[in-house]
Amino acid sequence: MYDFIIVGGGILGMSTAMQLKQAYPDRRMLVLEKEQGPAQHQTGHNSGVIHAGVYYTPGSLKARFCLAGNQATRQFCDTHGIAYDICGKLLVATDEVEMQRMQALWERTAANGLEREWLDADALREREPNITGIGGIFVPSSGIVNYAEVTLAMAAEFKRMGGEIRYGQDVTALEERRQEVIVTTSQDTFPCRYLVSCSGLMADRVIRMLGQDPGFTICPFRGEYYRLSEQHNQIVNHLIYPIPDPSMPFLGVHLTRMIDGTVTVGPNAVLAMKREGYRKRDISLIDMAQMLTNPGILKVLGKNLRPGLAEMKNSLFKKGYLEQVRKYCPSLTLNDLQPYPAGVRAQAVSRDGKLVDDFLFVNTPRTVNVGNAPSPAATSAIPIGAHIVEKVKSQVEG
Ligand SMILES: Cc1cc2nc3c(=O)[nH]c(=O)nc-3n(C[C@H](O)[C@H](O)[C@H](O)COP(=O)(O)OP(=O)(O)OC[C@H]3O[C@@H](n4cnc5c(N)ncnc54)[C@H](O)[C@@H]3O)c2cc1C
Repeated sequence: MYDFIIVGGGILGMSTAMQLKQAYPDRRMLVLEKEQGPAQHQTGHNSGVIHAGVYYTPGSLKARFCLAGNQATRQFCDTHGIAYDICGKLLVATDEVEMQRMQALWERTAANGLEREWLDADALREREPNITGIGGIFVPSSGIVNYAEVTLAMAAEFKRMGGEIRYGQDVTALEERRQEVIVTTSQDTFPCRYLVSCSGLMADRVIRMLGQDPGFTICPFRGEYYRLSEQHNQIVNHLIYPIPDPSMPFLGVHLTRMIDGTVTVGPNAVLAMKREGYRKRDISLIDMAQMLTNPGILKVLGKNLRPGLAEMKNSLFKKGYLEQVRKYCPSLTLNDLQPYPAGVRAQAVSRDGKLVDDFLFVNTPRTVNVGNAPSPAATSAIPIGAHIVEKVKSQVEG
């Protein structure tokens, strides 16, 4: 019998496992992951940005955990010898509408307690000669890291303390009883006293296995990237972001310096036809059928029909994609955009058709389940893990 089982070997599962083992060093713990290694899904397919906390509603879990996570991630990397670079981020306004939106973001960054600098067009050009805009905000605390590497280090730390990890174990059924939870996988059955699930794109399905109605459905959004050709590795000094449209849930195509020295462009946001499908042609009939019969998701699609179709068009035609980035980096050409693997975001959609904005957890007497953990959840992984440990402690001790 295990004391704790954690489902999911992404950054949230490993962060939680590591901190749970630190809190209860003598208890038996097991991480179950269906893939053959850690960080195979969102954690291994993202922009690698250590976010500062620019966009999030003041006081929300995202705002709090991102700010704390920015510091905690750096400390963890320092302790474990993981490369990161606090290269700062520039938000660039290219027209008057964006200038107005940027003013709102300036106020939000103040409310979120961030250090930042307002740049006029000249100051912007001075910082970034290849970027064109009429103004910008510089946020010095944003950085870059490889989150798969962070996750591996967390897994190693968990194992060093005596934790167990089993890969290739797809959790297929859960039964919560008065004194225990029975976890059935594709291979075995494991009883445990308490269960935590951090199952990313499968979050709603795992919660349903417990007989709970999560109140939301995961909608998968592909994020497609390009990599700039090598001669552009020095094209920018910072991370370059457009000013997002506040009615849209994602940040817009940005130029991201990666920790390996390359620069990516992306990600866009198109509806994925398979939850864990990374190629454009990946389709799951089950996933599609669930999405297209879900009233919440249908509402979201209906409300965002025009921008959704525009994103699909730009996904199919590289020229449209290029135009989004040429707005602020006009020197790039079609030949500069090289193939790069896509990611798929897990975004919870409520029954009434809203994209769930904040991080969300669903608890039962013996389980804590992460429901919604989109970006900046990689940045926030250490505070999210700490938050889950607190919830588990209150179940165990109270
Ligand atoms: C394109 C993109 C760009 C992003 N950019 C950033 C960024 O720059 N900065 C940032 O902070 N965040 C970013 N994010 C968000 C961030 O990557 C995620 O929020 C974070 O990785 C979520 O971690 P997770 O552990 O919850 O999910 P995942 O990494 O998806 O892990 C979930 C794990 O659970 C396993 N699992 C699921 N079901 C089962 C089951 N039944 N049995 C066993 N195992 C199961 C899966 O195999 C998977 O390994 C981005 C995300 C995407 C997709």
